[in-house]
Amino acid sequence: MKNICPNTSCACPTHILRDGHFYRREDSKLIQRYRCKTCGTRFSSATHSPTYRQKKRRVNSSLLKLLSSGVSMRRSAIILGIHRRTVERKLPFLANRCRKLNQRHLQKFKGRVFNIQIDDLITKENSKLKPLSVSIAVDEDRRLILALEVSRIPAFGHLAHLAVKKYGFRKDEHGEGLTRLFEKITPIVSPEVRVKSDEHQRYPSYVSGYLPKSKHETFKSERGCIAGQGELKKVGFDPLFVVNHTCALLRANVNRLIRKTWCTTKDRSKLKDHLDIFMYFYNQQLMR
Ligand SMILES: [Zn+2]
Repeated sequence: MKNICPNTSCACPTHILRDGHFYRREDSKLIQRYRCKTCGTRFSSATHSPTYRQKKRRVNSSLLKLLSSGVSMRRSAIILGIHRRTVERKLPFLANRCRKLNQRHLQKFKGRVFNIQIDDLITKENSKLKPLSVSIAVDEDRRLILALEVSRIPAFGHLAHLAVKKYGFRKDEHGEGLTRLFEKITPIVSPEVRVKSDEHQRYPSYVSGYLPKSKHETFKSERGCIAGQGELKKVGFDPLFVVNHTCALLRANVNRLIRKTWCTTKDRSKLKDHLDIFMYFYNQQLMR
């Protein structure tokens, strides 16, 4: 993409000349300027960069690491010496980049994933009366996160009645979430993949629908222990250890998923952004 005239109606966008340079104070770099010989448009090597017009490029990689290491957005802003709104704006930007990198990374294993585990992790937006479900699929052998999807679910148990009274009817979007999850993993996994999960009633229809040649094994869910944030189980051998351990890692490292915390998700699209950032950090920096 570099060194191409940004003018979309330009007849010959590759016919360009060097045209001096400028010093970018923000990250102390000398940036080459160019001029299009056909239409005269001036641009620079920064024009096509994903960080074009950003004023705090230098914090991007540190922010990614902090957000994937259990630091809240506001505390990251204090540590990095930037405004909290800058962090808010950087979250979707980093997430978009991470999504592209995640997709490219998983393409390497296309058709070579033979064992997967799926599970759901429950969290909330603002209040326990508004729960969210994070559907997660992991590669059992490589311990990579294959996909993460966030969906809205209605409150359950003794909170169900109270939730309807306070917030009205809440649509159950878990089915849509699972659809997105299976649409993402189906092209990556081998058709004869072995799927392990708990006895959630929704899983069998999705597994047989999307992966008809697969083998689905279900296991009874066990009681959690406190050290694993309720995700690691109190039994000697846990057949779903990989996915439960990944869920425990998510809870420990994505600040807003920690149980009994002050930090909560206020906007579920931001939770998805945060999870995609963690997925990149986990798959490509921690598990490398
Ligand atoms: Zn041009």
